[in-house]
Amino acid sequence: MWAKVITPYCSFCHSTDVTPISRFGTAQLVKQYYCNRCRSVFEFVKWQREENLSQGKGQEA
Ligand SMILES: [Zn+2]
Repeated sequence: MWAKVITPYCSFCHSTDVTPISRFGTAQLVKQYYCNRCRSVFEFVKWQREENLSQGKGQEA
């Protein structure tokens, strides 16, 4: 179930109106997106894994 592709959303305004930026071809898990709403560039993890959640800073992003 953790292999499910999550719809990317802006980490600033939570808008799903984003455009993927394909500048780097090596990183497959983390991808950069451009938000068309607040015009911010952010990184989004396409496949969130349980270990990433448990290794966080104590709270969900
Ligand atoms: Zn945004």
